[in-house]
Amino acid sequence: MTQDCDFIGLAVPGVRSMDTYEPGKSEEELKREFGLSDVIKLASNENPLGASPKAIEAVEKALPSLNRYPDGNGFELKVVLAARHEVELNQITLGDGSGEVLALLAQAFVNPGDEVVFSEYAFALYPLITQAASGVARVAAANSADDASPRGHNLDNIANQISHKTRLVFIANPNNPTGTWLQPEDLLRFIRSVPPQVLVVIDEAYKEYVDAEVAAPTIGWMSGCPNLVVTRTFSKAYGLAGLRIGYAVSNSQVADVLNRIRQPFNTSLLAQVAALAALEDIEFLETTRKLNRAGMVQLLNGLEDLGLACLPSRANFLCIELGEPGKVVFEALLREGVIVRALDCYDLPNCIRVTIGTEAQNNRFLKALAKVKG
Ligand SMILES: *Cc1c(COP(=O)(O)O)cnc(C)c1O
Repeated sequence: MTQDCDFIGLAVPGVRSMDTYEPGKSEEELKREFGLSDVIKLASNENPLGASPKAIEAVEKALPSLNRYPDGNGFELKVVLAARHEVELNQITLGDGSGEVLALLAQAFVNPGDEVVFSEYAFALYPLITQAASGVARVAAANSADDASPRGHNLDNIANQISHKTRLVFIANPNNPTGTWLQPEDLLRFIRSVPPQVLVVIDEAYKEYVDAEVAAPTIGWMSGCPNLVVTRTFSKAYGLAGLRIGYAVSNSQVADVLNRIRQPFNTSLLAQVAALAALEDIEFLETTRKLNRAGMVQLLNGLEDLGLACLPSRANFLCIELGEPGKVVFEALLREGVIVRALDCYDLPNCIRVTIGTEAQNNRFLKALAKVKG
């Protein structure tokens, strides 16, 4: 086939220089590539317990209705979310994962050349959605490795990157891939200091794992901070990553804008019923939290025995400092049938990120790590 056209060159300006997001390797891929039969994936911060049984039951019950479009407004789910967060229905935007809501924010509020501020070591989606909107990323230096919150977000540095061109600030709390978190009082002070036309997006993908004493009551701040947007997901603690559903809570005007540009049926029938059921399954969420707390202790102890340091984390994963290229350890772990995440793309070439799994999975990871570390 002859091709006279450079279609990459014809793409909108930001997209021409974009990289494709590289997801974690799947178990099936690894089995194929290395001829392994028994592999574990601790690479994408998924729930090691699977999905809530109540969510699975709700999905099964909804299967005969697959010929129907979903409720484009997601009314039933929004009613439950609104009651839970004590906000109005018109403050909620449902998304095809919270990733979609983050992208919609950039699409709706960032003009070509406008600036988006986030931290060094922030979530990989932020630079991509900024570029897709032909925005300009302003990256704030993170804390140094020997800070009290090593490699964590530095709110002063983030504030210093805000200019008259800034439209959005993205802050994940806790952050992926570091697991670091911000103190509620520091975060509130920061949000209050941001100019009122700049939207501050707090990405709370791991909020369910955060203990109450350090959990920032962000949605409660919203009435006093109209430029605050909070995003949540069902992909992590709720165990529904495969269904793709998340949401934003914001002031009603921001939600109005996001709801104008989203696809009319962006969240599927199955995702909506599963999310509703998962919200009711308090027991599953509690079991998930308990398993994560125990697994965190298990991994921290195991890493200490191996003489390895990791960043303090309030999420369901650990960022391990290896003192050698993470890519090499990542590849060696693959051969042992254990998938973790190398963090080159996050500018952390000597680190790997591992999701906290079941006790057996954590043991297997620690054994494999001990072996490949020599
Ligand atoms: C996993 C993750 C998300 C959620 O992605 P979904 O699109 O909801 O699956 C958002 N932000 C961060 C920081 C994450 O790690």
